Amino acid sequence: MQLIGFLGGMSWESSAEYYRLANEMVRDRCGGLHSARCLLYSVDFAAIERMQVDGRWDDAATALVEAGGALQAAGADFIVLCTNTMHRVADTLADAVDVPVLHIGDTTAAAVVGAGVHRVGLLGTEFTMAQPFYADRLASHGLEVLVPDEADRATIHRIIYDELCLGMVREESRDAYRQVIRRLVAAGAEGVIYGCTEIELLVGPQDSPVPVFPTTRLHVEAAVDRAVTGAVVRRPELP
Ligand code: GLU
Repeated sequence: MQLIGFLGGMSWESSAEYYRLANEMVRDRCGGLHSARCLLYSVDFAAIERMQVDGRWDDAATALVEAGGALQAAGADFIVLCTNTMHRVADTLADAVDVPVLHIGDTTAAAVVGAGVHRVGLLGTEFTMAQPFYADRLASHGLEVLVPDEADRATIHRIIYDELCLGMVREESRDAYRQVIRRLVAAGAEGVIYGCTEIELLVGPQDSPVPVFPTTRLHVEAAVDRAVTGAVVRRPELP
C-alpha cells in the first residue's frame, strides 16, 4: 500500500474527515485491521487565511511547497491537498515536488462525468466560486459550471469561515445552503458540487433534489484507490 501525504489544516475540521474516511475506506476494501498508511502535515490555518484575504497567493504557495517538500522527504508516495481553495496554487506545488499531487478538481470532475451530469452547480469559498482556477479545471473535463449569485456566494462563504471551519454546524445555515442549492437547480444545475471540504459537515445528498458531489469523500476515494491499487485519475485528452 502506498503512503498518502495529506497536506491539511485548511481547516483541520475537514482534515480530520480525510483521516477518518481514508481509514474507513481502507478497512472496507482490505478488511480486518487494515488501515490507511498516511502522513498528515497540518498548517496553521490563520496564517493561510490571512494570505487568502490579502491576495498573497505566492506566499501561500511558498508555505504549501514547504509542507509538500516535508511530506515528500518523509516518504509520501503522493500528496493530497485537503482543500479546494488552495488548489489555486496546486500547479506551483506540483511543479515543486517530485511526487504526484492528486488534484481535487480532477477527482471531482471524474465523478460528475461518471454520473452523466454535464451542467453542474458549484458551492465553495468565494475564491473557489468566483475565480476561474476551479471552474476552468472542471471545464477541462467538459463540464459546464454554474455558480450562485453574489449575495448567495457571500452567504455560502461566510458560513464556511465563520462556522464550519470552527466546528459549528447550525440548522439555519443548513437551510440557507438548501435554498441556494434550490436556486442553482432552478437555474439549470443537474448536480451540485460541494466544492469546499467542510461543506459535507453541514449538508448531504438529502439536502439536494439533484445528485451531489462531495469533494472530500471523492478526493479520499481516489487517494485510497491509488494507495491500494495504484489507480490514477487523469484529465481526458481534449479534442
Ligand atoms: N476547506 C475549504 C476548501 O475546500 C476552505 C478553507 C480554505 O480556504 O482552504 O476550499
